This record gives sequence, C-alpha cells and structure tokens, in this order.
Amino acid sequence: MSEKTDIRSLTLEELKEYMTRIGEKPFRAAQLYQWMHVKLASSFEEMTNLSKDLRAKLAENSEYVHLEIADVRISQIDGTRKYLFRLADGNVIESVLMRYHHGNSVCVSSQVGCRMGCRFCASTLDGLERNLRASEILDQVYEIQKDSGERVSNVVIMGSGEPMDNYDNVIRFIRLLTSPAGLNISQRNVTVSTCGIVPGIRKLAEEDLPVTLALSLHAPNDAVRKTLMPVANSYQLKDILAACHEYFEKTGRRLTFEYSLVAGVNDNLEEARQLAELIRGQHGHVNLIPVNPIKERDYRQSDRRAIEAFRDYLEQKGIPVTIRREMGRDINGACGQLRKSYMDKNVTE
Ligand code: SAH
Repeated sequence: MSEKTDIRSLTLEELKEYMTRIGEKPFRAAQLYQWMHVKLASSFEEMTNLSKDLRAKLAENSEYVHLEIADVRISQIDGTRKYLFRLADGNVIESVLMRYHHGNSVCVSSQVGCRMGCRFCASTLDGLERNLRASEILDQVYEIQKDSGERVSNVVIMGSGEPMDNYDNVIRFIRLLTSPAGLNISQRNVTVSTCGIVPGIRKLAEEDLPVTLALSLHAPNDAVRKTLMPVANSYQLKDILAACHEYFEKTGRRLTFEYSLVAGVNDNLEEARQLAELIRGQHGHVNLIPVNPIKERDYRQSDRRAIEAFRDYLEQKGIPVTIRREMGRDINGACGQLRKSYMDKNVTE
C-alpha cells in the first residue's frame, strides 16, 4: 500500500507517463495537473470533470497528499500568519505567511525537524524526524494560498529543515512551484536558505534555476561559527564563500548573507570588521537578524545600539545591509517553536 504513487509530486511529463501506464489517455494528465496545481483540489472527489471511474482508479493507484491545518495564529500587528500543518503520518510542521507591500511571501519547511544542530534554533532540538516529499512542501504554499484567499508571489525555503539535506525533493518542489502549468511563481521569487553545505551549493549552481541563495553565516570566522553551528566542523568559511561566489558567477543571482546577532557572541565591532573582510568581493547583501531567544538556550538578543552600530560599520565599508523587520512579533515564537510547543504539549497531556 505504501508503494502507491505520490501523484502530487509528479511533473506534468511524469504524470502523462503515469496516465499511459494505468491505461488512460495522456491528455487527461493536463486536466488532472490543473486540478492538483492550479485549482488546488484537496482530493480526487473534487475533480468533477473527471469521470467517477477515473477518480476511483486514481484513488486506488495513487496517494493524494493533502495537509490539514492543525492551528493558525494571526498577528494583530501586521497580519502575519503562522500555520501548523498535520501530515498524513501524524507529524506536524509549520509554515508562515508574511504580507509585504511587494506581495505575499510564504516560508516553508523542508524537513520534519532538522539534524544540523544550530545552537539557537528550536527546529533542531529533537533532531530530524524525516524528509518532506515535494508534494508536502508544495501543499504548504497551496493551503496557505487557499486559506488566505490571496495570491502567493514569493516563497522562501527557510522554515524547519536544511534544504540541502533533502536536496532532490526540494529541487522537485521548486520545479513544480514554478511550473507554467501550475502556480507559475517566478523562479526569481524563490529563495533557498542553507547553513552552508558546500556540495549542495555547488550542485544548485548547476541546476539552471535562477533562485536566490541565502547563506546562514552568523559568524565572521570559523571559531565563533563552530560555537553556534556544528556544521562549521564539516565546512570551512573559505570553502563555503568560494562556493557562494561560484553560485553568483553561474547564476548571476546576488546572494543574501543571514547574520543572527547574539549578545556577546558575534555582535561586537571587531566581528563586524572581520565580517566585512570575509565577504569583500562577494555580490550580495547582509541581513541582520536579532536572534530570537528560545527557552532551551540562554542566548540573548543584542541591544538596539549594538545592532545599529554593527549595521553602520558594514554600511561604512560599502556593504549593503538591512536589519530584518520582525514580522508577527506578537505570535512569533522563534523558528520551529510552534511545532515544538505543540509536540511538548501533546506528549505531556
Ligand atoms: N537550514 C536552513 C534553513 C532554515 S533556518 C538554514 O540554516 O539556512 C532559516 C534561518 O533562520 C537560518 O538563517 C537560521 O540560522 C535562522 N534561525 C533559526 N533559529 C533562529 C533564531 N532563534 N533566531 C534567529 N534566527 C534563527
């Protein structure tokens, strides 16, 4: 039974082959694809212009991935929505809808949990449960678009999980999301955020996908980085930044360097100086994020003055830099905290 085809993860080409295999005319594939990826149907039953027999056959041969909304938190300040989704196997994941003047952006999870172990991150506290399938990443966007009633124009793969650790499903997700036969979101409006897995960055550069690459830097040297991110023991900054540069050369896409400021750990001006030195010659900008404290660790946010001084230093050196606006401040647990609090509650109850 578990061998059923995950039909919502198939590309249009693959769906045509699939239809032929089950004895259907390939032209039916376009209709079915439209139901799955444009009309965003929740089940085969909704596909009323397909015959009952065909729907029954599809249900028998394939699995229709559909996420159930377990919880939604809506910010009273800026309309940001945090979603908790339940998967078919009972696992839960979270996603966020952020409303900007340039459009609606959805932040999706790529894995259930994470095995990267970044010290400040709630998503990784219980390790990796499993990878998400392409259809499960996709339906986060679909369900949010349906629930909010508004078009999603940007997608950032910055929720729980490390996209390079679930590479093939993430690439498949991006191709489906940006397919002209589906939601047709511009590839330029998709961002992949990584903790710095060098072979993954190199591979992504070869995909011929003009997506934005965001690197979670968080430190100006390997020593500090190792105290925050265990992955720094596997890849050195010089190799990561060489791969990033190569990414820019191959794709022409400017990079984003994410830097979470943690009081007393990575936020003094000497560190700003080292950071400016480190990324000299790179094409991209720095996004400073005041760390979002989690109760399991005693990391604190840098104070406003330190954050602004850090920004001013980089600016003086000619590096484009922004301080990330905190969205949904009133509902915003840190990345992965909604899922974590849900799970802790359900274990103790
Ligand atoms: N694994 C990927 C994508 C998921 S994390 C990556 O590492 O980039 C998305 C971003 O949020 C990363 O930059 C991550 O370091 C950051 N992040 C996670 N928890 C955080 C917290 N508590 N405060 C600030 N930034 C956090």
